[in-house]
Amino acid sequence: MINVDFLLASCNTRCKHCYVNGGPGPMMPVGDALACIERLDALAAHLPGDVSFTLDHEPVNHPCLGQILRMAAQTRHIENYHHGMTTGVGLMARPDKAAVVQAYLECGYETFGVTLHGGPAHHNEIVRRRNAYEAAIAAGKFLKAHGAKLDVSLMLNRFFPADADMLTAAMEDLQPDYIYFAIPIFTPHRNMLDFEPYRASMETLRQLRGYLLEWRQDEAAILKKAEQSTISAAIAHLRCGPGLRERFSQAQDELYLTLHPDCKLYVGNSGAESRCLGDLRSIDLKAAAEQIRSLPGNRDYGAYYDAGRLPEDGALIETLEKLPPGQIYGDLPSAIYRGLAEMGVPTNIIR
Ligand code: SF4
Repeated sequence: MINVDFLLASCNTRCKHCYVNGGPGPMMPVGDALACIERLDALAAHLPGDVSFTLDHEPVNHPCLGQILRMAAQTRHIENYHHGMTTGVGLMARPDKAAVVQAYLECGYETFGVTLHGGPAHHNEIVRRRNAYEAAIAAGKFLKAHGAKLDVSLMLNRFFPADADMLTAAMEDLQPDYIYFAIPIFTPHRNMLDFEPYRASMETLRQLRGYLLEWRQDEAAILKKAEQSTISAAIAHLRCGPGLRERFSQAQDELYLTLHPDCKLYVGNSGAESRCLGDLRSIDLKAAAEQIRSLPGNRDYGAYYDAGRLPEDGALIETLEKLPPGQIYGDLPSAIYRGLAEMGVPTNIIR
């Protein structure tokens, strides 16, 4: 599986947990965007397996989005994977927002999502933008009123028990089609430590018993999964499971690439670029496809560490033992990356 993160129009927030380098930034000119979709389609014709691209971070910021969506929906060899997540800030600021939603619906992209990080004060603090909560709620209502399906992602942090009643009221207000419950992961990006003071623990989660059911969640399954991604679980895993080197050298079959607004194509997830493959508008597509086919997978961020520079398991365990044992991460590798960040272990991510 190959996915290209197509960074079209930057983002309106600067979330503390952002692992894809969101935030305000440059916009890809419409001519380049259309040319890049065409070039990606031609590149995909030379690649095996499922090849997709994702218009990111906040495509609704682009003034010519309708034109871009229509082109993205007509490709032959590559699929536009629509995740539909929006902060709501860009959408609600547009005078033509109804036409933007209509363009999505006409192209077959029906589902959208907003993320809530708690009540208004904590949400705005975590995404580092005033009135972002209000924009997310307004966008959710607007999208539903204009015929879209709405998902809400509740992204856990330590404020959730204090804000739980507000979140329940927001769910009643929005009546989403689906509610996700997300625990932020930890990846080896330079900004990830900013979220650590906000990270929830198993104790936070236990305080949410009852609320999780109100939010249509399988409470027992969430508690069990969370237990498996604590600092304690990472220590137990390193003591009894495969060692760090073995774990990080396992082959992966998903490859992520990123296309920047300047049309440069990189190896690696957005924010974890490890090598530039050149300007998509002018590279030799056959040669680029050959290069891409030879690359190892990189979905798991373990791929970004040089095995020779990894610490011994014992040293990592010692570091992890100094961290709060009940802190929960989105998955077990994240708890391990947290320990590696604490030790300052370098990666091959371009800074
Ligand atoms: S909305 Fe998404 S892309 Fe934007 S800053 Fe937040 S996490 Fe990053």
